Parts: sequence; structure tokens; C-alpha cells
Amino acid sequence: MDLRLTTEQEALRREVRKWAKDNLDSGTSSGTPAGREWQRRLAEGGWGAPAWPVEWGGRGAGPFENHLIAQELALAGAPASLAVIGTGWAGPAILAHGGEALKRRFLPPILNGEEIWCQLFSEPDAGSDLAALRTRGVKQGDGWRLFGQKIWTSYALESEYGILLARTDPASQRQHGITCFAFPMRQPEGRLEIRPIRQMDGRATFNEVFFDGAEVSGDNVIGEVGGGWAVAITTLMNERTNLSTGLGTLWGDGPTLADLLALARRTRLTAMQRQKVADLHITSEAIKLTAYRMLSTSGSAASVTKLAADRWGQQVNELAVELLGMDGLLMADSGFQRAFLFAPALTIGGGTTEVQKNILAQRVLGLPRG
Ligand SMILES: Cc1cc2nc3c(=O)[nH]c(=O)nc-3n(C[C@H](O)[C@H](O)[C@H](O)COP(=O)(O)OP(=O)(O)OC[C@H]3O[C@@H](n4cnc5c(N)ncnc54)[C@H](O)[C@@H]3O)c2cc1C
Repeated sequence: MDLRLTTEQEALRREVRKWAKDNLDSGTSSGTPAGREWQRRLAEGGWGAPAWPVEWGGRGAGPFENHLIAQELALAGAPASLAVIGTGWAGPAILAHGGEALKRRFLPPILNGEEIWCQLFSEPDAGSDLAALRTRGVKQGDGWRLFGQKIWTSYALESEYGILLARTDPASQRQHGITCFAFPMRQPEGRLEIRPIRQMDGRATFNEVFFDGAEVSGDNVIGEVGGGWAVAITTLMNERTNLSTGLGTLWGDGPTLADLLALARRTRLTAMQRQKVADLHITSEAIKLTAYRMLSTSGSAASVTKLAADRWGQQVNELAVELLGMDGLLMADSGFQRAFLFAPALTIGGGTTEVQKNILAQRVLGLPRG
């Protein structure tokens, strides 16, 4: 495999690097409303959703070029985009399964950061086993009313819309009879309740969401009524690929290996710690090359990269906190302490380690189901 960049890829890299240098300033952050403003600027520069087709404001970038752009933005210190669920998960699902009217209604405001999206999939008894979901969609006139509960919904409070799965055929089981909706998060009083979940890193980035007759128009069905499982698969595949590129230590966000190396160079290391730093560097290179393979082939490498990158992200932050010594116990401003407290989520979100291993065992290694 030739890993050298082509002339076009080199030119693309220079272009995004220059744009990031001219447009990033120290105040750029992923929090709202700065995150919306950053997405608007990305879109203006043509970097808002590079993988989308040109007619919808993207660049028609292939997976590798898309990764290259993300890599350059991350290297320049750009924050993770608040709009990522819209641009990376829901947008591609609408592009693949939505009609023209749905695309015209939803894609432009996702792209320019006007409408932030969340993902309303997981439920208290339906996480890894998503087909067990029980949130109900009941037909009423031209629209639907929703009843039930979602959980672990990242950015629910910040979002205008959520990509939502509900069981619309009460007699159905498993992946049948599920419909996918573009669900409006602003609802009449009493129909929708969002309860933030406090995390051990002190933040509350995800939520419980309760539906008591919340309304969604029939025009907001993505794909076919009862055909939501196909939309879910598209969404989950995009999610896994987006979370598997090995950039940063927290799914493309948070401290990097370079930050750890800087810390290691100014610390008196034990022999064991030097070995750990070297190991993390080697793993980082292996993840990078596997990510390139994932991006130039497709399919199973995404599970391999996610498995490796998630554990690696935890180990980088664990070692950093160890090297910080007593300071590692304080919520100081190095970022490592907070990242260390968030890192256990890496091997759960976007498909747990055990589930990724099941996928690998069955689909890549051809082993029988357990
Ligand atoms: C940071 C973060 C952000 C998230 N954001 C969102 C979001 O925005 N929207 C959303 O819908 N969800 C979100 N999630 C939820 C996430 O998708 C689920 O946590 C995940 O799918 C696991 O489901 P669960 O938590 O119900 O665990 P379970 O599925 O109940 O799993 C419990 C344990 O059992 C193991 N297990 C389950 N099934 C198997 C099996 N077949 N074989 C072997 N072991 C198994 C799991 O690996 C795990 O260790 C987020 C999660 C995290 C951590």
C-alpha cells in the first residue's frame, strides 16, 4: 500500500492548513453558541461537511480526503464540532434515505450550524441491543405522537432536532416496524422533558429524554414508515467510522499524544514509564495506518480501529495523570485530568468493546455466534 499523498491530496492539505491558520483564533470553542458560529465559519470556508455532495454544500470528499481535512483541522487546534451528529450521522442518513423535500428542509441548517442535532436511539433497555427499543410512535392525523424514554442523548439540550427511532407498529418485533424521524426538540409544554445526567468529569453532556405525546409531522419521516432499521444502520455505520479515526484521545477531541510527549519530556520518568510512552507511540502509528486502510477499503477495519483507539485514548490519559503525580488528582487546566475522567466512556459509546469484538469475531474471523 502506497501511503504517500497524491499531488491533489497534498494540495488539499495545504489549502485546509492555510484556511485553519487564517480562521482559528484562541476564542474558538465547541460550546454553544461559539460552536454554532464555528460550524458557520467552517461551512463558509467549504469545510462544514466535506463528505456531503457538492450540490448540498459539501466537497464530495472521499473517506480519505475527509479524514485528511479532519486531521489538519485537529492539528491546527480546531475544536470538535458541536454540529457533528448533524453533519456526520443524521445528514448522511437523510442523504441516503430522505426525499428531496426532506433534504432541502434539513441539510442547509445542519451545514451552517443553525440547527444542531442529537441522536435519540438508546433507551434504558435498548443500548447494544437497539432492536429492543420500546419508544412508541402513534399515528394521529397526518403526524405522530411519541411516548417513551431515551437515555444517554448527547447535546439534547443544545439541539433543535434529533434523529429518533420509534416503534410505529405495535405488533412488530425486533428490527421490524420501527420508523426513523427528524424529531423537533422544541415541543409544547409538558410533552417533552430533558434531564441532564451529571458525569464524573463534572460536566453533563448527555441526558435522559422523556416523551409524553410529543409531536412530529408525517413529513419528518426519514425513509419509509416501518423501514427505520435501514436508516439506523446507515447512521450507526457513519457514527462508528467517525469515532474510529484515531485523532485526539477522546474521539478526535481532548489531549493528544503530542501533549503527552511534551509532558513526558519535562518529567523524570521511571524505566517502566518510558516503556509505556514508547508503546503508546507504536500503538498510535498502528492505529493511524489501520485507519488509512479503513478509509481506503471500507467495512471491518472500523471495528478494529475503534477497539484499538478507544483503549489507547484511555491509556494516554491514564499515563498522563500518573506522570502529573499529585497534580493529577486536581482538576487543573492541563486537560488531562478531565479527559482521564471522561475516558471510560470511550469503550462504551458508539458500540461497546464487547459488541465490536462480536462483530469482528463473526464478520471478519468467521467464527460461529456464541
Ligand atoms: C459518551 C457517550 C455518549 C453517548 N451518546 C449517545 C447519544 O447521543 N445517543 C444515543 O442514542 N446513545 C448514546 N450513547 C449510548 C451508547 O450508544 C450506549 O451506551 C451503548 O450502545 C451501550 O448500551 P448500554 O449503555 O445500554 O449498555 P448495554 O447494552 O446494557 O451493555 C452493558 C454491558 O453488557 C455488554 N454486552 C451487551 N451486549 C453484549 C453482547 N451481545 N455480547 C457481549 N457483551 C455484551 C456491553 O459490552 C456492556 O459491557 C452514548 C454513550 C456514551 C458513553
